Amino acid sequence: MSSIDFEKFSRYSRPGPRYTSYPTALEFSSDFSYNEYIKFLESEKGPLSIYVHLPFCRSACYFCGCNVVFTSKEEKLSRYIEYLKREIDILVEHIDIFREVIQFHFGGGTPTFYKAFELDEIVTYIKSKFPNWSSDAEISCEIDPRFFNEEQMKVLQKHGFNRISFGVQDLDEKVQKAIHRIQPLELTKRAVELARGYGIKSINTDFIYGLPYQTLESFKKTLQLSTELNPDRVAVFNYAHVPWLKRTMRKFDETTLPTPEVKLQIFKYTIDFFEDRGYKMIGMDHFAKPEDELFGAIEKGELHRNFQGYTTKGGANLIGIGLTSIGEGERYYAQNTKDMRAYEKAIDSGKLPFERGVVLDDDDFLRKAVIMELMANFHVDIKRVEREHNINFKDYFSNELKGLKEFIDDGLITITDSEIKVSPTGTLLIRNIAMAFDAYMKKYYNSKKSFSKTL
Ligand code: SF4
Repeated sequence: MSSIDFEKFSRYSRPGPRYTSYPTALEFSSDFSYNEYIKFLESEKGPLSIYVHLPFCRSACYFCGCNVVFTSKEEKLSRYIEYLKREIDILVEHIDIFREVIQFHFGGGTPTFYKAFELDEIVTYIKSKFPNWSSDAEISCEIDPRFFNEEQMKVLQKHGFNRISFGVQDLDEKVQKAIHRIQPLELTKRAVELARGYGIKSINTDFIYGLPYQTLESFKKTLQLSTELNPDRVAVFNYAHVPWLKRTMRKFDETTLPTPEVKLQIFKYTIDFFEDRGYKMIGMDHFAKPEDELFGAIEKGELHRNFQGYTTKGGANLIGIGLTSIGEGERYYAQNTKDMRAYEKAIDSGKLPFERGVVLDDDDFLRKAVIMELMANFHVDIKRVEREHNINFKDYFSNELKGLKEFIDDGLITITDSEIKVSPTGTLLIRNIAMAFDAYMKKYYNSKKSFSKTL
């Protein structure tokens, strides 16, 4: 990537979504009723992607934006398994259980906070209820290397897990102390070696930039050390500072957070670092080796984005199981309750713990297609969008295209009759570019407490 005027581009630092969904979760509401959701579930066909949320963690990492329950009580963990099973029992009454499962993901929390026999119990139960798993299903688990042992790995291997994501975040001691997550490199290395020893071919490591005390120099060291893990994929997320939503983030001294300018420098360095080592940038925050299937997907423009990040498995309905989980159909998003008591109460009354969501109208559906294509493939095939949505792109989006002028002037995108193309520098600001197509953004222009900053 050529040199960049960091000072100039840091003016793009403004609140904006990450577009794991469109419309974003801020538009989810109880207007989407339980009965409507059930009707969607009962009428859907085609492949399934299943997400199971295991929300428990021992202690808080202060940067964490996940929906987490902190506990060390065994009975809470086993009680949750019983409720998960009952949730699945209700779910299978409303879904064709013979739909092919092409993707399965354990997220959290810390899934490996559960003991090996408990993980076995959960996956075995799900497989007994959804018997049709594709032979090349992507089966993945998020793992905190601080809570991971060989017994758990054996269970994952037994159930065909083929992708593991290890949370690393940063390898600098001062940063680790500030974020309340002490995790020596040696410990992470042992976890990665354990997974590789059991045949896991796709090892992902997650890092975060924008954390307290990070500097360009400190992050350079972290990246250099990370090569010892030799990951197949790397995610380098932009820290989302939303202290009005997450109390633990209030523990940070905000004066120690890197400025937007430094964050841009760090991210640009990160891109060059991985590209120099043969990785290819995937979407806005992932890097993959050439052998990785994501790499092939981006070449063919077939990369998709969903709540689990970037995937080649597009077109499947996502079913979210467990506290706070989000499901996604072609025309809806549906989220389970975040409140454990409400979760249990719903299941006790024989209902799914669905709480809210959104049904996509034609305009949402069209904008979702444009935004997701930008976020995944850094371009929009205008002719394809016109064909698939029966519109004249330049008429339909005349205001949006005017709004993109500053990006054109700054050399971040080019627009022709057939495509919108994001330049390499534009990829750093892809959230800002996608925001131009977001019909809901105007509601949040003056709100400082809506989204994290794009830089
Ligand atoms: S980062 Fe992971 S381990 Fe830390 S609090 Fe969040 S979910 Fe738990």
